[in-house]
Amino acid sequence: MTNQFMWTLIPAFILGACVGSFLNVCIHRIPRKKSIVSPGSACPACNRPIPFYANIPLAGFFALRGRCLFCRSAISWRYPLVEGITGVAGAFIFLRFGLTLEAGVWFFFVATLLLVSFIDLDFQIIPDCISIPGIFLFSVLAYFILDMPLSAIGYGILAGGGILYAVALVYYLVRRQEGMGGGDIKLLAMIGAATGLPGVFFTLFAGSVLGTIAGVAAILITPKNGEQMRIPFGPFLSAGAILYVFYGNFLITWYLS
Ligand SMILES: [Zn+2]
Repeated sequence: MTNQFMWTLIPAFILGACVGSFLNVCIHRIPRKKSIVSPGSACPACNRPIPFYANIPLAGFFALRGRCLFCRSAISWRYPLVEGITGVAGAFIFLRFGLTLEAGVWFFFVATLLLVSFIDLDFQIIPDCISIPGIFLFSVLAYFILDMPLSAIGYGILAGGGILYAVALVYYLVRRQEGMGGGDIKLLAMIGAATGLPGVFFTLFAGSVLGTIAGVAAILITPKNGEQMRIPFGPFLSAGAILYVFYGNFLITWYLS
């Protein structure tokens, strides 16, 4: 690794971590229908505003040893986790796509998927105010920046939304209860807008494999009479889509050969 290269990888990580810090705000506030711009960050326990130096991504958490500066109540490890993951995503995207507009689109895409995943984990919902504008926005970005033909974008959206809609419909007709949330349908339509048909199929396949592994693990660790953990599908679809961004073409070629 050359020096020059290292000097660009570090800013990509830091920029990613800063975006991750903003994602934390969105994860907390969007499902609670609060503004994501104001007021500034405050401690959830004592409500005192967090000074900017304690709010520095990752460093702030570790400098304060995971406790509020004022009331010393514990800060969730989720904050540095989201910052760290987004930072690593920034560095990886830079490695894969260089300093290009395309890299910007993929970073925006991955950040949106992380946002959706953590909200889904906490609230078992994927807010329409993210997925619906996402379908539109990623269509525009895919057309103008990723050079995807309009037909490919259209098929991606239709397949993404259509397949999960059909699954939900069949499930409903057979079991007379909702299995697949409408949020997942719109999420896969959004993924389809950015990745087209190959992305939708890859995401569905990878997401189902990952979800099944997690489901089996959940059954194994749940005590016999314990309440069954409800596993949202959104984070697994998101993981599949992120995998596609980095290795999709490589994995499809490998699988077919
Ligand atoms: Zn506090």
